Amino acid sequence: MNAVVDLVIRGAQVVSGSAIYNAAVAVNGERIVAVGEEALMPPARQTVDATGLYLLPGAIDSHVHFRDPGYPRKETWKTGSAAAACGGVTTVFEMPNTNPPTGTIEALRMKLDAARSSYVDYGIHALFDDSTVDRLEELLDAGATSFKAFVGNTFGNLPAPTDGALLEGFETLAARGVRTVVHAENSSIMARREMRLKAFGRTDPLAHLAARPAVAEIEAIGRVITLAEWTGARIHIAHHSSADSLFLIRDAKRRGVDITVETCPQYMLINTDHMKKLGGLLRVNPPIREPRHNEPLWHALKEGLIDMIATDHAPHTPEEKTREDIWACDCGFPGVETQMPLMLTEVNRGRATLMDYVRWSAEAPARAWGIWPLKGRIAPGAHADIVLIDMNRRGRVNQGRLQSISRISPWHGRTVVGMPLHTIVRGRFVMRDGELVSDAAGWGASVKPIQQMPPAIPRNTDTTTRAIATRPADAPASSRPVDGVQDTLWADESYLHPLAKSGH
Ligand SMILES: [Zn+2]
Repeated sequence: MNAVVDLVIRGAQVVSGSAIYNAAVAVNGERIVAVGEEALMPPARQTVDATGLYLLPGAIDSHVHFRDPGYPRKETWKTGSAAAACGGVTTVFEMPNTNPPTGTIEALRMKLDAARSSYVDYGIHALFDDSTVDRLEELLDAGATSFKAFVGNTFGNLPAPTDGALLEGFETLAARGVRTVVHAENSSIMARREMRLKAFGRTDPLAHLAARPAVAEIEAIGRVITLAEWTGARIHIAHHSSADSLFLIRDAKRRGVDITVETCPQYMLINTDHMKKLGGLLRVNPPIREPRHNEPLWHALKEGLIDMIATDHAPHTPEEKTREDIWACDCGFPGVETQMPLMLTEVNRGRATLMDYVRWSAEAPARAWGIWPLKGRIAPGAHADIVLIDMNRRGRVNQGRLQSISRISPWHGRTVVGMPLHTIVRGRFVMRDGELVSDAAGWGASVKPIQQMPPAIPRNTDTTTRAIATRPADAPASSRPVDGVQDTLWADESYLHPLAKSGH
């Protein structure tokens, strides 16, 4: 005799990263309680007939900017998460370049407060730079799931961390086992080239690419890999854009560096040919590159060098995106709502399978951020984060109908085949029959309480800043500091140069 459950979805093809099979899915409360033959499902208060549809774990987007607090004209948690819900995305990880930046406990509290209006679940990437490096652990304990280091500058103009701070922060975070997202571009190269381009009077769209050549990405990825490998810190390369830096990822993964990588639809499906037409609308960091980069990124996903699809959902107002001078156009555009239809269209074209897509959109991000196996899969015990998709549904991206406040998209007018129809977050519909369920605002919750990263594996712990700032066990305690050195990091006087101990 079975107890009555809340929901049974019947008739769909269930998709995992390795299989597609016909099964019914039973949901009770926030969890999936059974996956199997329809005849074996418990009685339910509600049954959804999903014949002809595919049932996938909801997408997990590692990279969104909801601009809240600070820029309500561009986006808010409510509108950004509504866009996620309507894009089949059930969990987002949100970026810290808001105002105030998410680098203090107070700012983190403001962010968590704003997130309370979310339709979907969320993690918070807190800011990692020179100003926050001393409180990374505090930020973690206060609710951050992970960090973002803007090694390359972008919207918000947060200064890039120095290499010294990166190393020190990685030492701290390696011991905690959490992952840092890196915006990997070399700021110094870009600043210099931008200055030169402006001096030459270049204001055309392609000047943006000229200022941010692939070598800026190669250099920064190489540098952060070195520091991550030395410390054992986990890193995640945001919006990987270039074919030229893939060899670094391949080498690092072979050596056992814990590095995950995302790319975005815009780097696989758009190139400089489109930039000539769409201009500043396509201004984004890293830049849209030459056509030769598109195909290798697909291969890298297939091969597992690139782990996942994210969107870098980065909304601005139409006015901010359509200025004549490329340098005056804000960087980024919305994407969280269009990722799934765009990618499903490519699946329909035969460029990937639905299983590939589930690995890239759900499984890999769930593992990277420590929310697997509760999220990212369809199985008894997992959160009922579900998207039902219709692979035959055809439509056109219409920027005027996007949930985002931004309502300007480089995908506007593009034909898509394959769309999400229903999105369920922890057992509750947030989109139904293609329509936002507006009273589900606020249903989203932080994933911090369920986050469980694999055990930390810090390296070279005998040379960390913390280790060198500690008194060696056999050193005499009575030695005296040299004038003016007392206040440095090496506050422990016994660690000073032998000369410091000799006199006075
Ligand atoms: Zn971003």
